[in-house]
Order: sequence, then C-alpha cells, then structure tokens
Amino acid sequence: MSLFDTFQPIAAIATTPQGTQLLHPLCQSLGATLYVSDTLPLTETTVCHYQGSLKTHLATIWPNHRALIFCLATGAVIRLIAPLLQDKATDPAIIVIDAKGQSVISLCSGHQGGADRLAQLIAHHLHATPIITGASHHLNLPGIDILGLPFGWRKGPGDWTGVSHAIASQKRVQVIQEAGSKLWQENLPQNHPFYFGFGQMGENTPEGRIWISATQRRFAEGSPLPKVQWYPRVLWVGIGCIRGTSQGLIASAIKEVCQRYHLATEAIAGMATIDLKADEVGIIEYCQEKEYPLLTYSADVLNAIKVPNPSDVVKEEVGTSSVAEAAAIYGANYWFDYEGNRENREIDQSLLVTKQIIKSEGEAVTIAIAKSELEYTGKTGKIYLVGIGPGSLEQITSAAKMAINQADALVGYSLYLDLINPLQRSGQIVESLPITQERKRAQRAIELAQWGLSVAVISSGDCGIYGMAGLVLEELKNTDWDGKKPNIEVFPGITALQAAASRVGTPLMHDFCAISLSDLLTPWEVIKKRLNAAAMGDFVTALYNPRSQTRQSQIVEAQSIFLNYRNPNTPVALVRCAYRQDETIILTNLQEMLTHTIDMLTTVLIGNSSTFYHQNWMVTPRGYNQVEHQL
Ligand code: SAH
Repeated sequence: MSLFDTFQPIAAIATTPQGTQLLHPLCQSLGATLYVSDTLPLTETTVCHYQGSLKTHLATIWPNHRALIFCLATGAVIRLIAPLLQDKATDPAIIVIDAKGQSVISLCSGHQGGADRLAQLIAHHLHATPIITGASHHLNLPGIDILGLPFGWRKGPGDWTGVSHAIASQKRVQVIQEAGSKLWQENLPQNHPFYFGFGQMGENTPEGRIWISATQRRFAEGSPLPKVQWYPRVLWVGIGCIRGTSQGLIASAIKEVCQRYHLATEAIAGMATIDLKADEVGIIEYCQEKEYPLLTYSADVLNAIKVPNPSDVVKEEVGTSSVAEAAAIYGANYWFDYEGNRENREIDQSLLVTKQIIKSEGEAVTIAIAKSELEYTGKTGKIYLVGIGPGSLEQITSAAKMAINQADALVGYSLYLDLINPLQRSGQIVESLPITQERKRAQRAIELAQWGLSVAVISSGDCGIYGMAGLVLEELKNTDWDGKKPNIEVFPGITALQAAASRVGTPLMHDFCAISLSDLLTPWEVIKKRLNAAAMGDFVTALYNPRSQTRQSQIVEAQSIFLNYRNPNTPVALVRCAYRQDETIILTNLQEMLTHTIDMLTTVLIGNSSTFYHQNWMVTPRGYNQVEHQL
C-alpha cells in the first residue's frame, strides 16, 4: 500500500507462532519483510528465517531499514536495540505490537524516524490502539523537529531538545519566520505556546526561539535560551560559467557567495541557467549530488528580464545580456510555471545577491541569488481521494482512516471534516471551504499536491459517487497532468444508498440505480429522462439530493413519474442522516412519501414492483420468479 512508502524499507520480527500469525498479513499489506526465528517452521514463502541470535541479526538489518516492527515484550526490544541506537535523526522507527494485536507502541524515533505516524497507521490497520507518549502528540501540536518536513524544509543547527522541552512544558516559545509557508501557523490549536515575531511579549520572556529563515544564524554556545533553525528552501541560484568549469569550483563558489551574504546553503531550492548550459557537466554533477532541480531557460526568455548588471559581452556570446541574474529571478518565480500563467502574472524581479564572479585557474562561475515566495518542497505530491462513509467512524474503511491519518493536509467540507476530527493527526493542515465551493476545493487540493504535499480530499459516502473524486480528476484533465505528479489514489467508502438500505432491510437485492435530483450541474430534462427510464425499467431507485431549500419541485415531479409506472403502494424508505446522531427512518409508500420530511440529508429509496415490507423490513426479492436461487 503506497501509504507506507515513506517508511520503506520496513522489517518485522517475530519469535513466536502467534507473533508470526499477527505480523504476516500486516507485512503483506505494508510491503515489509518478516523475519522469524529459525526455531519456527516457515509456513509462508514470504517469511524469512534469521539464523543465530536475534541480536546479531538486528545489527545486520539495522542500517538498511527505516522502520522495524517487533512482536515481542517491550523490555526485550529495549535491550536488543539499546546497543544500536545512535541518533534520533538517523535511527529507524521502532514499533512494538503485543501478540494479541491490541496495542501498537511507538517506542523510538517517534518524530524524525516517523514511528508515531507509523504506529497510528498500523493501529488503524489492525483496529488497535496506538500508544504514543511524546508531548507534542499529547498537546496536539506539530513536533518542532518535524514541523518543516511536509514543506521540504531542512533542519538547521540548535538545541532541539531544549526547545522541545520548553514546548512540552507549555512555556512561551518565540517564532521568527522570515521565509516559507505559514500554513502550519494557521492550523495550531488554540492554546499553543508560540509567540510570533519580534514585538513585545509583555510579562512573558520567551523560553525558546525558533528561526525559520534562509539566513544563516550563529547560536552562541552556552546561551540560556534554547534556539533552533529551520531552512525553507527558497533560494534559487542563477548560474553561468565558462564551458568545462569543474563541479569543485561551482560548489566552492556557491558556498563562498552564501557565506558572504549570510545565507544558508541548506535553504537553496535549486539552480537555474540558460538552456545552452543544460549539458554543462560541472553543473549537472553538482545538482545531482545536492539533489537540486536544474531549471533552464532560453536566451530570449532570459533577455526579457531587466537585470541590475547586464553584459554586452554575454549578449554577444549567447543572445541574452544576463544569464545568472535573469535565471535566478525566473527560478524564484518557478511556481508560475505550475500555474501555467506566467504571462499573466507580474513576476518578482528582485535579487538577494546580484551577479558575483568567482574565478580560478582558467575557470569562472557567475552566480546570482533570488528568493522565492513559496518554498520548493523537493517532493512529489499525492492526492488521496477518500470516501468516509455515511457518518459514523465505524463505517469508514481502515484504508481510508490510514489515508486521512497519513496526509499532510485535509481538504473538505467542514461538516465532514468535523465527522473525522478524531482521526486527525496533530500538525495536519486542515482546509475547509463552503459546500458550494467544490471546484475551488478540488483546485486547492491539486495546488497543494503539485507543490509537494500529500492531500486527502474528503467526501462523504463514496468519493466517486456524486463526490469530490470526479471533480479532482476533471480538474487535473484541464492541467498538463502526466498521470503521476501528483500521484492519485482512491479510497472507496460506503455510499448513501448502501447506508440507507442497510438501515431498512434489503431493498437493493435486485437491479437498482441512483439518480441525483440536483439540476445544478445536470439539466432537469436529462434527469427527467433518467427518472422515466428507471421507473419504466422497474429499477429499485435511490434518489440523492432529493430536495433543498431552493429546489422543491423535483421530488414532486419524480414521484409523479414513478406513479405512472408503479403501484401507489410501492414501498419507499426515507433515510435521513444514516449512521449519524440525528438519524431518522421513515417507511412509507409512493403515494404518501411527500407527506414526510425530505431534504438534502435524505436518501429516498423507491422499491421495484415486487418490493414488500415484512415486519418493518423493506425487502426486494432476489428474483421475479419464485424459483429458488443459489445465493
Ligand atoms: N458521495 C456521497 C453522496 C453525496 S451527494 C455518497 O456516496 O453518499 C449528497 C446526498 O447524499 C445527500 O443529499 C443525500 O441524498 C445523500 N446522503 C449523504 N449522506 C447521507 C446520509 N448519511 N444519510 C442519508 N443520505 C445521505
């Protein structure tokens, strides 16, 4: 399942038959390798034996796994991993599950190793309880050492433990954010401990400070105030060079220029140059090593930018009077390329660092740096199209729960977001838009995913049945989507007609259809044609969106169409808010149905010619003949 991609490679270890039984199916879903003691028989081909002691085996697999899952006593796991633990930034996530599969413990590397997230995912998968003991989880705050990960920020120096401790003790912590997305600030719980900016803090002096900027800060050793730094990747380095300039000179030139201007190299997003340099070996090698994107522009495009230091010599040679400065400016405005409307937007033409020339033994590099408004995440975004079922949490599939838990951002209508509130993870970005703004919601989800976030788009019921899934794919069709970026995954849910049917019996036992009475997106003539066809075809029919405050007549017309073909006594169920707190169920018939409340929270189920009521259950027989069917 791709939800586990970010934790791969994962290994699991069992030492008992019960442990193997529990972990084997889990490992298959996760795509993890399961190792069992060689004293146990190998029952499945997908399980591997480890030879000799678990201690030795663990030392072998430790360096090349990002997560290790144990079905073993926590004490034993602690003793086993103790000699191997080095640094929470690099150690694998350690998860312990009890043999009954009731508790999933995030034991080690909860934040940076991702164990907290993995424990929650596995817990959803096993219907178990996640055990997470970190303070930020308990305070519903994003972990400060993983705060910038969704946005691709790089972690800088600082006293991370000191600042985390101040936050855990609910002390005031000052945040100075000069670059990067502020979405995380908008999604904090009410009683968060952060104080933003430089202004007066009143009585409260800060007990920790977080810098979020592209500037290289030096923290004095031994300062009583713990400080940390995150670097959003906002710096675009425009570069030009003499053909054949070495990677070494390029690297040292960039380092030197950054130092001169107190900029952090960690905040570099990528490189930009003229298309003639797309094959310049030194630049390509440097970008590969640093994992920087290399954006290239034609001479004409570059020449259109007014730069501080144009050069006639360069113009003569390559057809534009600026390579480094103009390319840096374009790089910093790279986001416009995604939106496909660069022509319509005024691009920010400012430079942080104007052209610098660095020469050495016949080689030369020119460098300019511009800062982008939006950081480069360096990630391929994902969109999970999630159906959450009719309302109650038990009716959501565990795959959908995992997608909701894993996503960096949730986008949906506020009523549905409220319904899944207990599934949210601290630090998630949650964006709701009014019910009528579906297309905007789809566009926003795509925008966040193109930027690099994983976004769960939440629909009630099934996302692909009058839900958001179709809108997102339609919108993607209008962009130059390659089918991969962002990556799409669909998580089905129980749709209203199934939920409603389950509350009244088995009305859908024979051929059925769904018709939405909303003529906002479909002409009423088309809907009427379908109503007639369904009625004539003797389909059991579920009516979605039957009546709203502004659409009153459609349900009346639908009833009269059905009365043309069906007996007035035909059973009709009106199920309102199925599986929600205010659920109401009315069993009526075609003749009487309009005497009851029908609104936008109702699904109307109209039986076929053989549907009947028995002991208050609505039943559609499986066949029309009284022949016994093999079910
Ligand atoms: N994607 C949703 C449908 C959205 S259209 C799904 O698959 O269920 C909205 C309509 O669905 C509502 O007007 C109502 O007719 C129906 N509906 C959604 N949730 C419902 C519920 N809990 N009980 C009854 N009807 C519901």
